[in-house]
Amino acid sequence: LKKPYKWQRVLLKVSGEALAGDHAENIDPKITMAIAREVASVTKLGVEVAIVVGGGNIFRGASYAGCGGLDRSSADYIGMLATVMNAIFLQATMESIGIPTRVQTAFRMSEVAEPYIRRRAVRHLEKGRVVIFAAGTGNPFFTTDTAAALRCAEINAEVVLKATNVDGVYDADPRHNSNARLLETVSYHEVTSRDLSVMDMTAITLCQENNIPVVVFNLQKPGNIAKAIVGEKVGTFIGC
Ligand code: UDP
Repeated sequence: LKKPYKWQRVLLKVSGEALAGDHAENIDPKITMAIAREVASVTKLGVEVAIVVGGGNIFRGASYAGCGGLDRSSADYIGMLATVMNAIFLQATMESIGIPTRVQTAFRMSEVAEPYIRRRAVRHLEKGRVVIFAAGTGNPFFTTDTAAALRCAEINAEVVLKATNVDGVYDADPRHNSNARLLETVSYHEVTSRDLSVMDMTAITLCQENNIPVVVFNLQKPGNIAKAIVGEKVGTFIGC
């Protein structure tokens, strides 16, 4: 029987910036609710959803490294802790509308969330639970985009869906160039060779090496998350 959707298991990457929406505050509850509702609509169809949350709405390690005696590694640990805050908020919103959700952290915080255990994460997904991966990769000098690529490969998800505040990948920066065109599809090679700002190099090369496609789309447009998850055309598709 042909299913009405394309993906069976997806890795949704939600950046911290996306969670903040237009809010001056760190997290906009309207955004977490919109994410929860859309995720609910696709888990009902049987699509398994894992989420990696960013933390840039609260703290970015690189911005503080060297300030007030803070070295880069310590700054990055603060950044990773920020992602845990976002994860707990998102979990609460998801569970408030009845989506069973587990948070797994890349380093132990057992009073707050489960530790990351790959096989356990997969089991949760098979049982229809949404798994939110927090604390990035658990290592300084990495990003949550790299964590998304890594977890996607580890749990055998088929695609990284990168939810952002822009419509997708452009051939130039749309903020500075009014002729910038939104690209429907783009290869990994183009992303790296033209230095298109999509993901950091580590993340995009990890996707390329493991043949993981990436869909970049705007989270602020209602319906987009559900569309991306069910495999409808949205934003920019990055593949080989
Ligand atoms: N971070 C890290 N290792 C990781 C993932 C994240 O050190 O594997 C830190 C890093 O300081 C980063 C911060 O956590 O600036 C927040 O993550 P990121 O900037 O990727 O969040 P996003 O841009 O998606 O909001």
